[in-house]
Amino acid sequence: MTKILVIEDEKLVRENIIDLLAAEDFDTIAAANGRVGLDLAVSQIPDLILCDLMMPEVDGYGVLTTLREEPVTASIPFIFLTAKSARADFRQGMDLGADDYLTKPFTRTELLNAITSRLAKKATLAKQVSTKFDAQTFSPKVQMMEMYLRRAIEREEFEQFLVYYQPIVDIHSGQIIGAESLLRWQHPELGMVTPTELIPLAESTGLILPISDWVLNKVCKQIKNWHNQGFTDLRVAVNVSGNQLKQPNFSQKIIHLLLANNLVPDSLVLELTENIIMPDINQAISTMNEIHSFGVKIAIDDFGAGYSSLIYLKQLPIHTLKIDRYFIQCIANDSQKAVITTALIQMAHNLNLHIVAEGVETEQELAFLRQHKCDAIQGFFFSHPLPAREFEKILFANKRLNLSNV
Ligand code: C2E
Ligand code: MG
Ligand code: MG
Repeated sequence: MTKILVIEDEKLVRENIIDLLAAEDFDTIAAANGRVGLDLAVSQIPDLILCDLMMPEVDGYGVLTTLREEPVTASIPFIFLTAKSARADFRQGMDLGADDYLTKPFTRTELLNAITSRLAKKATLAKQVSTKFDAQTFSPKVQMMEMYLRRAIEREEFEQFLVYYQPIVDIHSGQIIGAESLLRWQHPELGMVTPTELIPLAESTGLILPISDWVLNKVCKQIKNWHNQGFTDLRVAVNVSGNQLKQPNFSQKIIHLLLANNLVPDSLVLELTENIIMPDINQAISTMNEIHSFGVKIAIDDFGAGYSSLIYLKQLPIHTLKIDRYFIQCIANDSQKAVITTALIQMAHNLNLHIVAEGVETEQELAFLRQHKCDAIQGFFFSHPLPAREFEKILFANKRLNLSNV
């Protein structure tokens, strides 16, 4: 999916562009100022950036200059958005290396034409480069990350990795019923590397397997620790990568881990996305059946963002569906998202599945989901992902979802 970063300080304009792009099936990221935009550009490496020229603090020129200096973002197609009155300024933007500009207000067609033309040029260029070098060339930053990652694994410096836990909350009682474990890489020189950068690199280099083994081990020990402290109903989910699921001994590994840690099998949930199940569905079903028959719960993650093959859904031994964050964002004001999500909730219940909404950020989103009988939510509205100690604090404090206004 093509990822587009929109940096625009005017909320209405930003939201309009995001809605328009999302309707065209682009993956979108939004930033309300230049500084956040720069952070997101480096951490997410979008395929194209749309950036407002006039913004307080870091303006469009500042963003473009910084991006062009950073090897990892230097070649991302960049389109300026200028106000009519600032039309004369576009020259300066183009001189700084912008690829195109759009004068506000622009039409949907003007926006889409500018984007597709830039993306097509980038693809042609990439083809020329790849036939020239005929090898996978990573940017210097990614190469450096790969070197550090290899070094960390070879030297077993797992203390650089952290597991954060994000609460999953029952929408009716407001109680924490579980958590999702989320990996972080705290490198002495690179700083905090997010999973969106780390996981694809780890997958492509095969380093995902030792990292995933470490995560599984760490999480199982943590579940035992929390159960021992009295939170015996707590269920913790672990994200599974495609390479892991393909391992012939994956189900035995899971069973061994549960036995070694003396854990009740259903305290562990494995989150799989449709995208990792579908390429070899028969193999995936067989592995999932083995895991499921031992009592481990399986969740489909990011549901709706991948293949969403409803035919197969019935054949999969799953317990939970997690609705992708995309459908939840602004659900109360988006009739299409509302219709789809309501149907997903009903379908899940008809199939006897537990349904969790991901990425719940606002009270309105929570109210909608509660009204439409979603079972549980996860998202910044209740809590960001937390280090184990912080998560433990909210368990002991019996933190609950505030349902008084919904
Ligand atoms: P995911 O499994 O769908 O995890 C949810 C992601 O959404 C997390 O991002 C979480 O921080 C973010 N999130 C949660 N609530 C909100 C919200 O209200 N708003 C917004 N904007 N975001 C929210 P994170 O931690 O960056 O992880 C990204 C992805 O990386 C995960 O998506 C998962 O696919 C992958 N990942 C994370 N940890 C692991 C791991 O240990 N192993 C594997 N294989 N993949 C992992
Ligand atoms: Mg997940
Ligand atoms: Mg997810």
